[in-house]
This record gives sequence, structure tokens and C-alpha cells, in this order.
Amino acid sequence: MTAVLQAENIVKSFGSFTALHGVSFSLERGRTLGIVGESGSGKSTLGRIVMRLLDADSGRVFLGGDDLLAMDRAQLRAARRRIQLVPQDPRNALNPTMTVGQNLAFQLRAQEVPRKTWNATIERLLDQVSLPADYVHAFPHELSGGQAQRIAIARAIANGPDVLVCDEAVSALDKSVQAQVLNTFARLQAETGVAMFFITHDLAVVEHISDDILVLNRGRTVEAGATSAVLADPQDAYTRELLAARHSITPA
Ligand code: ADP
Ligand code: MG
Repeated sequence: MTAVLQAENIVKSFGSFTALHGVSFSLERGRTLGIVGESGSGKSTLGRIVMRLLDADSGRVFLGGDDLLAMDRAQLRAARRRIQLVPQDPRNALNPTMTVGQNLAFQLRAQEVPRKTWNATIERLLDQVSLPADYVHAFPHELSGGQAQRIAIARAIANGPDVLVCDEAVSALDKSVQAQVLNTFARLQAETGVAMFFITHDLAVVEHISDDILVLNRGRTVEAGATSAVLADPQDAYTRELLAARHSITPA
């Protein structure tokens, strides 16, 4: 089976500081890979590289088998629709002067979705992220943190991407809201088969949502494998430390 997203031996330095020392992973359709590590371990840098928002010094990235780093502008434009970001702060993804409906329509237009389908698509998207249809008229500042994050998710899935890169996407939310949004991600994945590259510093979140886990420590992979296996029997001292520091998520 071809991985929807694969990275081989990614190296990235900022000046004399090496943020990633040769990191590899493979992510398949319908699966979630949790990228874990404390602040500064290189998680966001890896996420930006696999979206080609940042260039690696060396290594390869494949999106559905296509070499992302070899793509020209036009190919990259098309590829960017297949991999979408859900950021930590949803308000970065939403225009504050536009309603929820206008924000989603803006995204649909950018992705060249035919205008006549916008209303029905927006209605479906709100339903997919468990928000009532009348939120279409709300402005971003009227939304709670959890509601705003749901809209950011709706925006990211608007055109049926293959991969969601979620960078600390639930980290700013209260624990109870966090569990609800994680359940929304899981349901979306079951419905659409979207793969998730789920960055978090929080092992409890990873335990809740990830099939597989990649633990980074100062830009190196210190542990990788099935989440249940890694968390049940961590081989690395750093992973054991992270585990000891985790809180637990109450399933909603
Ligand atoms: P994480 O997301 O795991 O917290 P990051 O990937 O954001 O970590 O950062 C990894 C390391 O790379 C950090 O030490 C950070 O300061 C450094 N870094 C990230 N981006 C840049 C940049 N544009 N310029 C210089 N250093 C950077
Ligand atoms: Mg980060």
C-alpha cells in the first residue's frame, strides 16, 4: 500500500543549529501518526517541511507517492490541496471580518470548488464538525475556542484532503472541550479516510487519537511504533519521562 505521506531522512538546520537530524516516517490512509516531543524538539519544523512551507536541507517527502520536493509551482499548487493545516490558534486561519459562511466560501473559492455547490457544501461541513447550521452567520469573535477550532477543521477538510497536519490543534482548549474536538477528528477520519499527522506535546492526546507514534527529542527520533506498544513499554528514557508527566483525558 502506498503511504499518503512519507518522509525519508529529513535534515534541517537553522544556521549552526540542527533542528532535525534525519527523521523518517510513513503515514497511511485512514491512520493517525502522533508526533510527540517537548517544546523545541522539531515537531512544527517537520510539519512545515512535509507541507513544503519550509525547505529541508536534505531528505525526501512523498505525498501519495509523488516527490513533493521535486514539484514545480503548478504541481505544488495542486499538491497543497491534498495536505491541509489545522493550526493551534484557529483565529489565525479565520478572517475576523467575515462570517463563518464567508470564511468557508473563501476557502472553497480558493480551491476552485464550483460556486453553485458552496451552500450545500458549507452546510455539510458544519454538520461534519458538529456545529448547527445557523453558525454560518456567526463571526469568529462570537465563537468559543472549541467552536472556532471546529470551523478551522471544516476549512481544512473543505475540499477532501488526503492528509491533515494538525499542529497542537487541541492544545489551547480546556480538557473537556479537547476530548470533544478529538472525537470530531476521529469521526471525520472514519467517515472520510483522511490521514492525520498529529503534532502535540501532550502524550495523553496522542494516546487518545493516534494509531502510531513518533517521539522526537532534540530533532532525533527516539521512539516509533504502534501507540499502544510504545506507551505500554517505552524503550527510551525520554519517553518514560514524558509518560510520567502526562495527564489523562476523560473520554467524552
Ligand atoms: P516544536 O514544534 O517541537 O516546539 P520547532 O520545530 O518549532 O519545535 O523548533 C525546533 C527548534 O528549531 C527550536 O529550537 C527552534 O528554536 C528552532 N527553530 C525553528 N524555526 C526556526 C527558525 N525559523 N529560525 C531559527 N530557529 C528555528
Ligand atoms: Mg511547535
